[in-house]
Formats: sequence, structure tokens, C-alpha cells
Amino acid sequence: MTNQAYTLDTLRLAASLEAFYAGHSDAEGLPVALRVAMTAANLLPDEPGADAAVVDVAALFHLAGRLDDHARAEASAAIADAWLRGAGAPEWFVASTRSAILGAWGVGGDDVNGRLLWHAAKLDLISVERHADYLKNVPTAAGARAVYLSRYRREYLTFALRLDGQLNMLAASEIYRERMSRLEEWLDEQDAGLVPADWRRLAEVADIQRGVERLLDGEDPAMVRSEMPRGGLPYAEYRGRQRAIIAGSHERILELTHDRIEASRNVAAEKYLESDTIHKPAVEENLFIGARRKARALGLSAETAEDIARLLLSNAREVQERTLNDIAQRLSRLHGQILDADSPETRTEEADIAIPSLVVRTGDQPLARENELIKELRVTGLNEAYPEQRERFAQWFDSPHPYILTGQIVGSRDADLFMQALADGERCKVIAAMATDGPVHLGHAALGNLLIYFQSLGAEISLGFRDESASREEARRTMLDRLLVLAEVGLDLERMDAYLQLDRSVVVESAFELGRATPLSVLNSALGLRLSSSVTDTFLPLLRLADTLHLQQPELGGPCRTLVIDGIGGDVFVRMARNIADKFGFIRPSALYLRPMRSLTTYDDPATGSAVEVMTNAVPQGRIAYEDSPEDIRRKIGRAYTGGRRTLEEQRKLGGNPDPRVCSVSSLHAFHCTVDGDAYAALQERCRSGELLCGECKASATDKLLEYFEQRHQARSRLPESVSERARGLAGIDR
Ligand code: SF4
Repeated sequence: MTNQAYTLDTLRLAASLEAFYAGHSDAEGLPVALRVAMTAANLLPDEPGADAAVVDVAALFHLAGRLDDHARAEASAAIADAWLRGAGAPEWFVASTRSAILGAWGVGGDDVNGRLLWHAAKLDLISVERHADYLKNVPTAAGARAVYLSRYRREYLTFALRLDGQLNMLAASEIYRERMSRLEEWLDEQDAGLVPADWRRLAEVADIQRGVERLLDGEDPAMVRSEMPRGGLPYAEYRGRQRAIIAGSHERILELTHDRIEASRNVAAEKYLESDTIHKPAVEENLFIGARRKARALGLSAETAEDIARLLLSNAREVQERTLNDIAQRLSRLHGQILDADSPETRTEEADIAIPSLVVRTGDQPLARENELIKELRVTGLNEAYPEQRERFAQWFDSPHPYILTGQIVGSRDADLFMQALADGERCKVIAAMATDGPVHLGHAALGNLLIYFQSLGAEISLGFRDESASREEARRTMLDRLLVLAEVGLDLERMDAYLQLDRSVVVESAFELGRATPLSVLNSALGLRLSSSVTDTFLPLLRLADTLHLQQPELGGPCRTLVIDGIGGDVFVRMARNIADKFGFIRPSALYLRPMRSLTTYDDPATGSAVEVMTNAVPQGRIAYEDSPEDIRRKIGRAYTGGRRTLEEQRKLGGNPDPRVCSVSSLHAFHCTVDGDAYAALQERCRSGELLCGECKASATDKLLEYFEQRHQARSRLPESVSERARGLAGIDR
């Protein structure tokens, strides 16, 4: 039998390997054997004269060698011998493999050296240290050596094959970077024709990742961008993968999805560096058109193909958003820098975005990405980055609320139409919602302050409470507590409407009605639902739509101007409500987006791996609740995260960062302690100039808050019984 004949019979080798591993007690044996079988099945020679099987198998065994080990060739050949004999290969095959390995390292001659070298170098990426350990520890006694070899083969081949399968762009580029100098040396020595294009591609990805690191180190973004690789390769590859996914089989889809998720991280980094948007409606539409066309050609349902495409798209978006969030949050933490990817020419023109980003989808709204979201969602910006728009908007009011003047209201969607109607004396309703997830904290009070303001302007207030407690009774008690606090701070409960979502039949009925008019595909594309999403996940968004639109139902007075007050993350629901409003003869709701208060801590949610930046009951140490004792409040503010410098000298010299999205104490001042626009601007100026130090700043916030809480407690004791009665009535609690 010749080498070639044996090679052509590689499936037999595969079968024997499979049997070898399948019989082993190691639980990983079978998958390894299957992978080996697949590898072996692919070993048929495709170049005249080249014994591909010998070369590939030899390359696999080259794992045993180390680049800096002079005995590498012999060690590799010895391991290959032992492995092949263990696998039942005949002696002639063992000998030819040995000769190929020795030839590759100059010990013999072989015309397939180049290919072997390439494979070997690729496999060398795995871990030279592990092989060094192996070579150090190999036992000398024959029996022990055989057991050792067998275990080594199993462990390392498993590892090698797994890694080979996972050698996606991210993993590869990490390895590449780690071993860059050695590999670059190696690449330089090779004939250009032998160096695969992928390796150059890895270098580009590594460049992009280095660019991200440079940004994190505080380098000028414009400078970093200008030095990034051009030509769009990563994104082109991403699109290529998309096409492959659509065309592929189910198994291939799973494999490629994993790869693409990894690739998406790189795409996100690249998009960030190029100030590009995550959302590309035109590209996405083409993807769906392509999917439908491909499905027709294959005789499959076009809807199924489109569903798969949407699912993959939402996965990719999630990963991209996470990456961008990570970058944004790390930048924010390190330097207090707020992202401002100012590149209008790369942005899409669509006013209504079909598929919002993950941040928006989950209601998560990292403060560090506020400017990004304003742009991506095409909201009218009113924060610090848009002083002129803010000034124009403020002209609607005789005495604008301080949150408008200081930029804590970050954006609007058609709020001017609402203001016009209010000025014209039309019936206007302001809509807000609160969760019933724990005690009232300062974040709730900030929303309450705005509701009080609009109530004073003549708008009707409607406050919905989402039922998120263990029981309906508990939700009602929490709602009552919130209403009493809002009454303490000045909201007139007699002139407002409040309800617990599931207690109000018109909300539930509206949700059903709106649900009938909302195709699942719309909900999916707007919210990025998953196969693992529960059915409730589809109903809760409808309740939010109903919250917004039911106020225009005939039994509640019919169509009127409405203004939703929410965080910018709620914009997805506002846009959905606006899109569906026409079908029911409702007036499209307007919206104002309020910046959330910053959490006092920098807590990372272990479930998502993302920082929780917003004051929430989910992170009790980061919020100040009305039930907190004065000691708690002092302690929390004393430990609060600030935009201050590391040392007092530095802060005096360079000043602090009073951006309320970065400094939680500044956020306390903006929303509650130093609300007045001029006073707050002066505080920020003193901070920036280094005149105000964090200790003093925290002390004044603490004093003011303690005084505020003292007044609230006194106000509670003075609340007339009629107010408590009204609050209980709204919450549906009998005496
Ligand atoms: Fe924040 Fe005040 Fe320190 Fe400035 S001085 S960084 S506003 S705590």
C-alpha cells in the first residue's frame, strides 16, 4: 500500500480514531473523535504530488514542539509516532509522517514544507508554555510514559481542535497580539505567497483593538481614528458572514452565529472608531430582501428566512451595543468623558428607526452614552451639548423649570406641539410611569418635581404604576407610599390621575386592542425579542403602549395632546405609540426625556456585566431613599463616586469634573440640592476651577439633603387626612 492509498482511505483512520476516543472514559472523547474524523475526512490531497494527509496530521502533532526548543523536530516526530501508533496507524504511515515533520524543520527534505509550517505555526499559537511543561514532565518509565502520552494526546489534541474551531477573529487577534513579535518575525521570514491573507487581517483587527486601548488611555479620538486601517475589511467580512449565515444550514448557522457574535465586537469597535452608527436601516433592509430571495431560491418560506435574519441581526446588535457600552462606560469612569461621535455624514436619514439598539430595548440608558442616543434616536437634544436648542425650547415657558435650564431634560420629541396646545388652552395630559419595586428614592422625587411643574402650568397629570411587586397588595402599598411622598413635595393628588396598571381595565383592554393591531414582527424588530423571550415579554410592551395611549380613549375624554415624561430609553415605546396612534384616531404623543439621577456607586451588575449608572432600587447602596436614616445618608454621600481627582493638589491644580452624568454628587446638586440654574452653574464653575473640593461639595449636599428630608417628614405629619384618603383611593386601598 502506498502513502497515497492510505491517504485516500483517511476515513478509515477517522473511524479508528473515533473508536479510540469513543471508548475512552473521558466525557470529551466522542466530540474529539468526531472533530478528528472531520479533520481526517478533509485530508484528501488537493495538490498534485502533495500528501495532504501526512502534512496535516504531522502539523497537528507539531503541537508537541516549541519554537525555541532545538529538539523540537525530534520531539514532534516522537509524539507523532506515539500518537499514530496508539491510533493503530501502520508503520509505513508513521514513518512518512515522521519524515514530513523532520523535513519541515530542515532535518530532511520535503516539498510541502511551506504548508506544514503554516499549520504548525497556527497550532503553535495554542500554548508553547504548555508544551514546555509537557516536555519537562514526561516520565521515563515505559508504562508511565505510555499513559502520560495517551493523556497528553487527549488533552492537547482536544484543546488544539477546540481552539482551532474557536479561532475566530477576536480570539485569534488576542493570541496574535500576545505573540505578535514572534509571529511577525516568522511572517517576515516566509515567502509572501505562503502567508495567508487572514494573518494580515488579524493584524488589522489587532490594530483596531489597540486603537480602542489608546482611546481608553485618553488619546485624542480624532488622532486615533486617523491612524486606523482603512478599506472597510472588517465590516465587509461581517457582511460576508451575514450572507453565509442566510445561505447556510442550521448547524452552520449556529457555528457562524457564534463566530459572528465575536466578529460583531470588532465591528462595534471599528464603528465607534469611525463614528459610524450601529443601526444601518438600508443595510438591514437589504439583508432581509436577500434572505427572502435566497429562501425562495431554496424553496423555503420567505418569512422563516426573514425571521432568522432578524434574530441574527438582533444578536449582532446586542453584542455591538455591549461593546460600545463597555467602551463608553470605561471612558466615562476613567476620564469622565462623555461620548460624542459627531459624524453626521455617516448617519442615516430615517426619522423613525425600526430596530433600536439594545440600550434602548432594555430601557437601560447608560449616562455615558446620552449624546450617542440623542443622535441615534433622532431626538431633539436639550442637554449641555445643545445650548441653542435648549434656549429655544425654554422660550415656551415664562419661568422654565431648572431641569430645563441645567440640561437635566436631555431631549424632546415634538414637545413644542404639546407646549403650543397648552398655550392655546387645549386639554393636555402629561403621562409618566413608576415601578413598584421598592422604597421611594430621590430619582422618583426628581420625576415628581417635573410633574408638579406641569401641573402648575395647567396640564392634567396621569401617573401609571407598573405592577412589579411580589403581590398586587404589595404593589398597592408601594404605590400609596409613592403618592404620599409626591403629595409632600407638592403634587396635588386631587387634580391628577394615578393607577396601578393591572387594576385599570381600560389599560388592559387597550393593551389587547393595540396588540391586535401590532404584528409580532413589529414588536420583534422594535424590541429585539429572542426565541428565549417569554410570552409575557411580548405583553409588557403592549401595557406600556396602553399606558401612553389609553388616555385618549373615549371613556377618558377622547383624543388630546399628551406628553410622555420618561428616560431616553423609553423612546422606543414613544415611537411605537406614535406609529400606531394614527390607526386608532389618536393624536401622536410628544415626549420629554429626563436624565436619570446618577447612582452614588459604581456597581457592576453580575447578571449583565454592565455598570449600573442610574439610581435604582436594584442597587440600594447607590440610592438615597426617603426611608434612609440621616446616618445612612451621610455615609452614602461620604462614599459617593465623584468626578474629583486622585489627590487634593491635583484637584486644586486641574479642577474636577462636575458633569452630573459622571459625578454623583453633582447629580444630587442638580436635581435636589442646588437646583437653581445660576447657583448650579456657579458650583460647576468652582469645581472646574479647582476652587471647590469634593469634601466641601459633599458636605453641602449632605446638609441640604438632611434639611430637605427633615422638611419632608414635617410635611408628612401635616398632610391633611383628605390627601391620605385620596392617595388610598387612587391606590385602591381601603382603610
Ligand atoms: Fe463632583 Fe463636587 Fe467633586 Fe466637583 S467638587 S467633582 S462637583 S463632588
